Amino acid sequence: MEIKEAVFVASYPSEKQCPKDGMPEFAFIGRSNVGKSSLINMLCARKGLAKVSGTPGKTRLLNFFRIDEKWYLVDLPGYGFAKVSKKMQKELSGMIDTYLLYRESMKLAFVLVDAGVPPQPIDLTFINNLGENGIPFAILFTKTDRLSKNELARNTAAFFRELKKTWETMPPHFITSAQFKTGRDEILGFIAKVLNTKE
Ligand code: GDP
Repeated sequence: MEIKEAVFVASYPSEKQCPKDGMPEFAFIGRSNVGKSSLINMLCARKGLAKVSGTPGKTRLLNFFRIDEKWYLVDLPGYGFAKVSKKMQKELSGMIDTYLLYRESMKLAFVLVDAGVPPQPIDLTFINNLGENGIPFAILFTKTDRLSKNELARNTAAFFRELKKTWETMPPHFITSAQFKTGRDEILGFIAKVLNTKE
């Protein structure tokens, strides 16, 4: 699959206000600074589509991009929220949870995980919650160009070792680098497959 057209639609403060046309959605989420904007731009082959190291406002909303009139790419706020107040953290995680739990047109969530750091409890907790709630997801390991082959293998193995403590089957996962476009064809192919099987 190739992306011919990626159009920013709008940013919404809650699931209720999101588009109601029923087009399938793929959500992207991860800790802030995980490389989400860079990866979205890389997938869509559009440099400034998602703002790298985002504008403060947009990073707190559900950002919708319409792709080839066929599906929406939904850029969710980063979790972790170290820089915002407790009240805002609650509001943000409420908004994300509502979207992920109740959004019928959401086909799959891509969870971005920085390949360069040891398994982070916050990522594991988030992923375990998705699993417990039956929300389909895949993992995208980011910034892999910064690592040697050995380091990458060690870090991904460590991550899966943690997941195996809770889950028998491992989720689909992709090795990515926004810098070298690593994983682009595989991810777009995977999206195409989900679109074909779930419609
Ligand atoms: P976001 O906050 O998750 O949207 O992350 P950004 O896309 O803004 O990226 C955070 C930082 O990581 C920026 O300095 C990027 O240049 C850097 N970055 C993102 N993706 C990659 C990548 O694939 N390789 C490398 N080397 N750096 C990356």
